[in-house]
Amino acid sequence: MISFEDALSIVMASDRSVGTEKIPFTRALGRVIASDALSDIDMPSFDKSSMDGFAVRKADMHLDLEVIETIPAGKSPKKKIGKGQCSRIMTGAMVPEGADRVVMVEDTETLSTGLIRIKNPFSKDNISFRGEDVKKGDIVLRQGRMIKPEDIAVLASTGNTSVVVSRMPEMGVISTGSELIEPNAIPAGSQVRDSNSYQLMAQIERAGASGKYYGIVKDDEEETLSVVRKAIDENDIVILTGGVSMGDFDFVPSVFRKAGVKIQFDRIAVQPGKPTTFGIHPDAFVFGLPGNPVSSFMQFELLVRPLIYKMMGFNWNPLPIKLPLREKYIRRSSERMGLIPVAITEDNMVVPVEFHGSAHISAIPFADGIIMIPAGKDTLEKGEFVSVRPL
Ligand code: AMP
Ligand code: MG
Repeated sequence: MISFEDALSIVMASDRSVGTEKIPFTRALGRVIASDALSDIDMPSFDKSSMDGFAVRKADMHLDLEVIETIPAGKSPKKKIGKGQCSRIMTGAMVPEGADRVVMVEDTETLSTGLIRIKNPFSKDNISFRGEDVKKGDIVLRQGRMIKPEDIAVLASTGNTSVVVSRMPEMGVISTGSELIEPNAIPAGSQVRDSNSYQLMAQIERAGASGKYYGIVKDDEEETLSVVRKAIDENDIVILTGGVSMGDFDFVPSVFRKAGVKIQFDRIAVQPGKPTTFGIHPDAFVFGLPGNPVSSFMQFELLVRPLIYKMMGFNWNPLPIKLPLREKYIRRSSERMGLIPVAITEDNMVVPVEFHGSAHISAIPFADGIIMIPAGKDTLEKGEFVSVRPL
């Protein structure tokens, strides 16, 4: 059995690049940009008014000004501002030659003669100068960033209508267990609905990878081996759930070996999730996750998700939330690192959710995150600050 930290280092050291592809920027949300994006223009690309008002010369602020033109957004000014002159200008319009300030409408007064008088001598310039945000050739998004909606705007405005991103790792999901049935059936006797594979498919999708479900395989070594071989052949990562706890029908580690997988570890000092297996095959990384849905959920979040991101070149740092515990917390055994699902109360205190163990998946939707209690520590004091890793 190895520590969680060692398990994570082994997984993260096993990274393999998945290569890149070029896609339209409109499809890039959640993808990881694989080379720096540069701007093909200055931004703004012209001296732009940031207010509705009058384009004037600073030197003429004390004069009553003649209006020589109206400049809407999208039209070029035709006239140069001379002494004693101004142009009416709209937000986003090009500032005319000669003007070096836009005085906002509210700071002016139109005289009965039609001339404009400036009431506020301390008016700001209200001009966004060409290139002040971005210069042509500037890097606007750096390689390794996971693309968000605001990045899509950056790509659109800088002419990056196609973008080079990391390929999505292809991930195969297999459920093992003769007791498992599909969710649309009603369990009879000791049958259990397969919830893990659908949970995993959703976790894969959320991580920005591409999942393929291989269905339920019975606790049969031959059958499992043949599905595992096929999944290894077709994917970058294979996740199999169930069959790893060393019960009489738990033969997954031996199936992995027969499929040519070199097992790196098969026990982690963590609860829940101890019987987690990780192995390397020349064609794919292979995880054997425990059958219980909470264990499978947490081990995916803690071990598989960081690997997916690493393979895509994304340096993921889930920001911990540091908050105090509302009550003292004691755990029965501190042999392994403990993963405790917790809620954050309205007054920003941390409380463990009611949780009956690793089969109790319906407790997890009540949790805002998990706290990780190191092995060897069994008591957390009331008021002690804990790091909540958001879910
Ligand atoms: P195992 O890891 O195969 O020993 O399974 C541990 C527990 O998890 C057993 O109670 C299984 O019935 C349950 N289990 C296994 N696979 C799944 C699954 N895909 N979905 C929901 N529960 C499962
Ligand atoms: Mg099983």
